[in-house]
Amino acid sequence: MIYNGIDFETYFKNYPDANGYFGKYGGAYISPELKQAMQEITEAYFTICKSRKFIAELRRIRKEFQGRPTPISHLERLSNKLGDVQLYVKREDLNHTGAHKLNHCMGEALLAKYMGKKKVIAETGAGQHGVALATAAAYFGLECDIYMGAVDIKKQAPNVARMKILGANVVEVTEGLQTLKEAVDAAFAAYANEYKDAIYCIGSVLGPHPFPMMVRDFQSVVGIEAREQFVEMTGELPDAIVACVGGGSNAAGFFSGFLNDPVEIYGVEPLGRGEKLGDHAASLKYGEEGIMHGFNSIMLKDENGDPAPVYSVASGLDYPSSGPEHAFLHDLGRVKYDVVDDEETVDAFFTLSRLEGIIPAIESSHAVAFGMKLAEKMGKGSILINLSGRGDKDMDYIIEKYGIR
Ligand SMILES: *Cc1c(COP(=O)(O)O)cnc(C)c1O
Repeated sequence: MIYNGIDFETYFKNYPDANGYFGKYGGAYISPELKQAMQEITEAYFTICKSRKFIAELRRIRKEFQGRPTPISHLERLSNKLGDVQLYVKREDLNHTGAHKLNHCMGEALLAKYMGKKKVIAETGAGQHGVALATAAAYFGLECDIYMGAVDIKKQAPNVARMKILGANVVEVTEGLQTLKEAVDAAFAAYANEYKDAIYCIGSVLGPHPFPMMVRDFQSVVGIEAREQFVEMTGELPDAIVACVGGGSNAAGFFSGFLNDPVEIYGVEPLGRGEKLGDHAASLKYGEEGIMHGFNSIMLKDENGDPAPVYSVASGLDYPSSGPEHAFLHDLGRVKYDVVDDEETVDAFFTLSRLEGIIPAIESSHAVAFGMKLAEKMGKGSILINLSGRGDKDMDYIIEKYGIR
């Protein structure tokens, strides 16, 4: 399918290009030393990902350890309530550890093993990426250092406990505001010293090349499965698909299965409390081109041009930028990016729980909320939503802040 001059038949051969660019977005804006480390990872990835042994091992892990393929569920009661549109969800909440993140963490850790590395390093904000990576490290017998701001460590006690139980070393970061940004800086600094023995594992389709490409490729299993399952279940393609976008990994993998199809694709960003800078994290909708954390993309900037403070009820979505591929697909118009706010999201969280017996992650609830609005607008047809994770982690906070609805 040709869309706006781009041939999606050959899209994955051409994007990103050899330097990691999706159009003008992407690249690797990092120190020469780190550039060398990224080069090493890129070369290893291109060799290893084609090896039969690597592919067979990753397939086996997905099936026997992660529990893939995850199913698609038809949301019959919710669809009936909304009208004639049929809604479906791809159940990444049923992937081991309860979200899609393990898909790329197992891939990254397997790559580390093939490269002969002894350790994986990462930062984490809410702790979800840290838990997924600690799980992968335990599985492969790798050391695991997770950098986390002191403020986040206090706020995310259950995930800190999970990481420690899984054998990870949680490194407290006490610089600056003691949250995600400082944790990223500290993890990168550690990696620059340790890159001979360690590999940095980024938690989304972010950071310098090759990570936006590699993480998308590891997540593409979601889109491939979903397309096959949906066609088998209904005999046709969905009319529209929807995923939430923080950094953009669950969306990138899910969308990749449908880019070459006549399917409307929607990415949903968090509008939080409203449109004012600092009240949301809708970087593609309100941001502008800029470089942060080693890549060029669309980002929310403050008056000095630095990454702006962001807010969302979903801590997995509050990042002031999104992956370069999303910026590219946004400018191209192939994917439409829209927003829902905290209130709509919390309503969707309870609605899906009550009508379908699925408690969604508050991140995924953004996609559900948008899917419900889209269903009313479309009037007929089908919508497939990527349910990126389960909501057990969010229950206490939602009840405390919003009560039972
Ligand atoms: C981390 C997380 C997200 C956001 O990350 P993306 O890279 O945008 O996918 C979404 N849903 C869940 C359940 C998460 O844990």
